[in-house]
Amino acid sequence: MESNKTIIIEGESVKPGESKLLNISIDRLPTGTLIDIPIYVFNSKNPGPTLLIQAGLHGDEINGIEIVRRMLTEKRFNITSGAVIAVPILNIFGFIHYSRDVPDGKDVNRSFPGSKTGSMAGRIAYHYTSAVLSQVDYGIDLHTGGGQRHNFPQIRYTDNDIQSQQLAKVFNAPITFSSKLIKGSFRNAAHQLKIPTVVFEAGESMRFDDYSIIEGIKGILNVMRHFKMIACLEPKYSERNNTVHLENRKWLRAPTAGMFIPKILNGSKIEKGEVLGIVSGPYAKRSKVVKAPFDGLVFCINHQAVVNRGDALFHMGKPNNEDVKEADI
Ligand SMILES: [Zn+2]
Repeated sequence: MESNKTIIIEGESVKPGESKLLNISIDRLPTGTLIDIPIYVFNSKNPGPTLLIQAGLHGDEINGIEIVRRMLTEKRFNITSGAVIAVPILNIFGFIHYSRDVPDGKDVNRSFPGSKTGSMAGRIAYHYTSAVLSQVDYGIDLHTGGGQRHNFPQIRYTDNDIQSQQLAKVFNAPITFSSKLIKGSFRNAAHQLKIPTVVFEAGESMRFDDYSIIEGIKGILNVMRHFKMIACLEPKYSERNNTVHLENRKWLRAPTAGMFIPKILNGSKIEKGEVLGIVSGPYAKRSKVVKAPFDGLVFCINHQAVVNRGDALFHMGKPNNEDVKEADI
């Protein structure tokens, strides 16, 4: 029987049947210390696709890092076909500084495909694209809400990309929707290279959220099972939610400046006119409510307690039962 391909990252080979921890050197600290990105490669003997699972592209979004760590600890990447490339922390600099960005103040997820001679964010993106993305057939990029925004576990696929839509369907997160490609994002770079990719967004930065972590592991295992990398799911990861497909997404913003208290739980179904939260002035002179503009579902709440007028507080969408189109992935 034909065997799987050899994975080669920065000149290091991982043959079929081998698993290795590789370090791709990315840059130096001002003190001269070399910074590596540790990358696990699990290559099975049997042919199949290569799946990239990456976390920590935003260094402060730690739920994804915990998802990969738990899957490594539980030996979930002992696969029977294809290969998994697992990157626990892409943005090492951000992780050690509790920051979304790298020390040059730029967002790596707005710097793809990057440049060999660019600033730090651009060089990280460039190295990663050439070393890792060149080896990949499908991608799962793990994120959380930025700042103090808490995302109810959701999978995002690319508009008009049926393979990415199908990957999202297989992942089967509690919430699914399509989103436009953002210039400079990892998903955009992968899309240009015709690598179907989904973004899992769950929880908020610098906070562990066990529900989000478990939903992420379930989704990744669903994808691995779909590609016949694993035979079946263990009971603790097998219950599947029916995803809610959302459209007409809308941010609801602070009607005034003040102190913000949400009145609903994230992921709640909401009726038009329902009070979602209150923004009050600190001197008990004024207070305004935020109401739902339509029937729908809240899938992101900003936990920032002190807000300015116009700050995004809730993200809402309308459920849509339309089934995804069929595609072979
Ligand atoms: Zn992110």
